[in-house]
Amino acid sequence: MPFFDEVNETAPRERLRMLQFDKLQKLLREISGRNRFYTKKWSDSGIVAADIQSFSDFEKLPFTHKSELIQAQEEAPPFGTNATFSVDAYTRVHQTSGTTGTPMRVVDTPESWDWWGHCWAHVLKGAGVTSADRIFLPFSFGPFIGFWATVEGAKRVGAMMIPGGGWDSIQRLHMMRELGANVVCCTPTYALRLAEVAREAHFDMRSLSVRALIHAGEPGANVARTKARIEAAWGAKCFDHAGASEVGAHSFECELQPGGIHLIESEFIGEVLDPQTGKAVQAGEIGELVITNLGRPGFPVIRYRTGDLVRMNLTPCACGRTFARFDGGLLGRSDDMVTIRGVNVYPTAIENVIRQFGSVDEFRVTVTTVHEMHHLEVQIEVVSGNDVEHVRMHVEQAIYQALSLRPTVRVAKPGTLAHFEMKARRFRRLDGPLENQQ
Ligand SMILES: [Zn+2]
Repeated sequence: MPFFDEVNETAPRERLRMLQFDKLQKLLREISGRNRFYTKKWSDSGIVAADIQSFSDFEKLPFTHKSELIQAQEEAPPFGTNATFSVDAYTRVHQTSGTTGTPMRVVDTPESWDWWGHCWAHVLKGAGVTSADRIFLPFSFGPFIGFWATVEGAKRVGAMMIPGGGWDSIQRLHMMRELGANVVCCTPTYALRLAEVAREAHFDMRSLSVRALIHAGEPGANVARTKARIEAAWGAKCFDHAGASEVGAHSFECELQPGGIHLIESEFIGEVLDPQTGKAVQAGEIGELVITNLGRPGFPVIRYRTGDLVRMNLTPCACGRTFARFDGGLLGRSDDMVTIRGVNVYPTAIENVIRQFGSVDEFRVTVTTVHEMHHLEVQIEVVSGNDVEHVRMHVEQAIYQALSLRPTVRVAKPGTLAHFEMKARRFRRLDGPLENQQ
């Protein structure tokens, strides 16, 4: 079993907690009085960083919200008050895609960029990648941090990195075949899209040497049905990974595919809290992931509300790692969770049901609110050659069986639902009936 940092990855949990705490104290010393954002935040809450002497002290630190980081950026453009050091200390800037509002800029020093590579090396080694491998990155290298950090990780494990930006999907498939790429990093949506393109162009996927896909950007790689679909289409294992521009690459799936992702606890402190009360939930219960990154003093996040729903599992993994796992990966967004007739519904639960249908190509889920009542509307595109009404009815029944909720399933004309190459947005909410919005 290849490890990247075996001593820490397999350390007894008490030692891991001590390591986290040592790193935390060092970080607090480094940024206190220097990082304008946190210095003000803590002094506003009457907290002195030097007084944080235990994990229970740590829990007194106020949460950090994304909106505050955006505001910090507006107050001191372009990089914001969370940039701890003077601008000349930084060598990289990235920004979020801004699909859900103002883009957030993040900056890295050479040391923290190395740290990104260190975290990504865990992701790659977790999937069994070594110096013998060739990693294909079908990704356009824009300002989004996305797979840029994968390049650093590939360097750390000594693998060959094949850049695949600026090409169309069919060119990418040919390039993978010609160069013998055996690992691909992309979103789950794009993995399915490449398989669809191959099918349309009569490109034989079995002619590729790909044995592993490493996914990011969306939860799909841990949605059992989506995973199975990708693995069948590619004849390869598919591994999940989670991270965020403002946090770092924090979680990865190990080769044993235990049905979840390991949190890199040597580099991050993860807490799982009730999103409403902010109180810790029991291990095994669903809550919001709150994270502290320990290796990015130039742009730290301390007790950051990720908005991601997770279920933490502290039992040891058969791979030998003692790092906690999130069962099922990221389960959805805490603000996407909606209660319909007493049932908690989150996007991955619906995706898991729909993806079992090979006859469904693309789908979109809308929660409509009419007269204060929520209703689930699902639109599907059916692969040609199938009995459309038959598929529609079966999808409706399957959702009902899985969630005890009766949705309205409608068939969309082929090509009318968005086919995503990067982050898919298949879940939305509307006030009023769906017909009014079309
Ligand atoms: Zn494991």
